[in-house]
Amino acid sequence: MKAAAFDYVRGATLPEALEALRDGGAGAKPISGSQSLGPMLNLRLARPARVVDLSRLDDLRGVSETHDGIRVGAAVTHADIEDGRHEPLRHAFLRHVASGIAYRAVRNRGTLGGSLAHADPAADWPLALTALDARLELARAGSSRVVRVGEFMLGAFTTRLEEGEIIAAVLLPRLGHTLRWGYYKLCRKTGEFAHASAAAAFDARTGLARIVLGALDGPPAALDGLARDVAQGGAAAATPQAIQSAVAGAMPEADSIDRRMHAAALERCLAQVFEN
Ligand SMILES: Cc1cc2nc3c(=O)[nH]c(=O)nc-3n(C[C@H](O)[C@H](O)[C@H](O)COP(=O)(O)OP(=O)(O)OC[C@H]3O[C@@H](n4cnc5c(N)ncnc54)[C@H](O)[C@@H]3O)c2cc1C
Repeated sequence: MKAAAFDYVRGATLPEALEALRDGGAGAKPISGSQSLGPMLNLRLARPARVVDLSRLDDLRGVSETHDGIRVGAAVTHADIEDGRHEPLRHAFLRHVASGIAYRAVRNRGTLGGSLAHADPAADWPLALTALDARLELARAGSSRVVRVGEFMLGAFTTRLEEGEIIAAVLLPRLGHTLRWGYYKLCRKTGEFAHASAAAAFDARTGLARIVLGALDGPPAALDGLARDVAQGGAAAATPQAIQSAVAGAMPEADSIDRRMHAAALERCLAQVFEN
């Protein structure tokens, strides 16, 4: 099947792209790597009248250090991070997450912003960036605002993005050698979306202590109680019983097999924390 006809706009600058989106109203959609929107267009699951291409905008492709962290343009690709193309993003946690997404062909084009905006519950960046307590800079013609990644996704494929608004950047905390992290996903085949996934990030320097479960029916779920206990008690607090109880609390409607898969992913993720 082929996509229905649409008007394709590539602004030369971010303000031009934002104006094109605003002027297109409800019928306009941004596109970045087109790894998710492309198939949806071809299957006619999405039929925008106008598609505004963000993938080549310099404003969205840069990475810079700020006074309190790292600003990552939303059009930075998974492969950019996997390959360590941007010095501030050369942390093993980010490279591990990026290199586990899909296949190289998808990683070459798929972007951080596209992944977050698409909001697939099984996707990698919403989970990993919730664990880091990253924030998003959302932009529209004439204004911008900042939201936490953990509050951005409202449900499966649903976010806080408003009409005419895009993700312009991801704001990460500085990632140093004091960050202890874990990331584990269970997939039927390498390169496929996860059936169960978990991410954890602890940094004694900044007080970051987050454990998050992914591949649920909705957004990633933060396991705050377990994170607190592990931050205080270390490996001794990450008992199988504590893990199972936290998982059961985060997915009360799931069947026992799903819970066991998530508990296994979380147990492996936490084992990495104590190694990394
Ligand atoms: C075979 C296959 C396997 C995959 N496996 C995985 C996997 O294991 N893990 C994983 O995480 N992902 C996986 N993906 C998805 C992949 O990571 C995509 O790159 C990602 O979901 C979408 O990014 P994109 O840049 O291609 O976005 P696009 O396809 O261009 O856009 C996706 C959606 O986001 C919107 N959008 C795009 N950019 C922005 C922006 N800056 N601001 C606001 N809205 C925006 C679009 O309007 C659209 O609604 C897979 C994809 C494929 C095809």
